[in-house]
Amino acid sequence: MSDDESATVTVTYYCPHCEALVELERDAYLADKAVTPYPFEGWTYATPDEAYESADGVRFVCGEDGTLKDGEEGCGEPFYLSFVRYDEGEELDPRRPAEYVELSESAGPRGPQGPSGPGPR
Ligand SMILES: [Zn+2]
Repeated sequence: MSDDESATVTVTYYCPHCEALVELERDAYLADKAVTPYPFEGWTYATPDEAYESADGVRFVCGEDGTLKDGEEGCGEPFYLSFVRYDEGEELDPRRPAEYVELSESAGPRGPQGPSGPGPR
């Protein structure tokens, strides 16, 4: 056996298309961000057989890449697991506000900005 320096954990994900359960053994230090039916822009994906630790996520093909849990039936559709990425200590969010074409009430609270009180000097 080779050395076993990096701890791995087995995690399970639901296919966003058919909710089949897939299993993936990955390094424990990786943090999952989301499982989506589409890839994030700017993320790179590898298959579960590749060295996805050096990628930004994993591209599954439901039921066709050997990751399905026993007893599950896949739908054959691809879906994407994206890891959390950081840029200079800040978590990157692929769903940047600039990509929202129209804001809805779910966009979050908006209020006046600026100093709101006297400050001693
Ligand atoms: Zn599926």
